Amino acid sequence: MKALHATSIYSFEIEDHLLNGENVSFKPSPNTSGYFQSGSPDTIVIHFTAGSSLESSVNVLTNADSGVSAHFAIGRNGDIVQMLSTNKIAWHAGESYYEGRNGLNRYSIGIELDNAGQLKDRGNGAYESWFGEIYDKHEVLAAQHINQQSTGYWHKYTEVQISRTLSLCKALCSHYNISTIVGHDEIAPSRKVDPGPAFPIQKFKAAALKGNSEQWATEASETNSQREAHDQIQRDSVSAVKRVANVSANSLNVRKGPDITFSKIENGLNKGEVLKILEKQGEWAKVSYTKVGWVNTRYINEITEKSPFKS
Ligand SMILES: [Zn+2]
Repeated sequence: MKALHATSIYSFEIEDHLLNGENVSFKPSPNTSGYFQSGSPDTIVIHFTAGSSLESSVNVLTNADSGVSAHFAIGRNGDIVQMLSTNKIAWHAGESYYEGRNGLNRYSIGIELDNAGQLKDRGNGAYESWFGEIYDKHEVLAAQHINQQSTGYWHKYTEVQISRTLSLCKALCSHYNISTIVGHDEIAPSRKVDPGPAFPIQKFKAAALKGNSEQWATEASETNSQREAHDQIQRDSVSAVKRVANVSANSLNVRKGPDITFSKIENGLNKGEVLKILEKQGEWAKVSYTKVGWVNTRYINEITEKSPFKS
């Protein structure tokens, strides 16, 4: 089992809202709505490109007609292309919602990782991307996306790509007041599946936000080892009960247990807030958001829409 050396081994620095470091280039994108307001950026959103190469994705993200952009794109060899200075708003998040705020473009830095995205199983260990390229099973992770109902096949990221992304995020966190790192699939769960289960988002958040590189280096080797696909399917069927929902009531009490007699967790939830369902008991569901508690399922909508490819 090969360990992932995703420690902060790359020397990156932000200067005048531009990234300095080895194998970093700048190709400007015209797709911006101007400068962030003060206090932003405070969030980083991680994406996959669902593209065939770094170059092709950068071409789209810097084309005035595409209507999309991101601050950074990171290739499978770790090369980084910056397309907007990090004091300007990019167009990467689209319709999105997270912890009480809509339209995350106004608050966030967007990082796109070159990755083919969700793949189709063609049999005999071959997996096909939406653009027709075939990938070997060693490049593919079989796992159920938390927003989907069944096992999917996901193009793996490379180690250098993830470790360079981590170093970039650490540089951003030390320069700006970044409090949140999220996947696009967490802020637009009914539309998006990127960066998906092949990206170890929870460990990445802990390592980038808390600087806990030692924990990352040992635990990440488990997530990113070259595990055979059928092992992963077995492993993920255990956690297959996980679902995503949003709040349908105008306000919703969260309680410490699955009954109205349990005390409320302060603040509660507002309409539209996104939850992960951890388990159910009767008409109650244990959910996680910034906290963990129990809600009555009459007041939430489970999100079951599948959107396998980036639109
Ligand atoms: Zn995305």
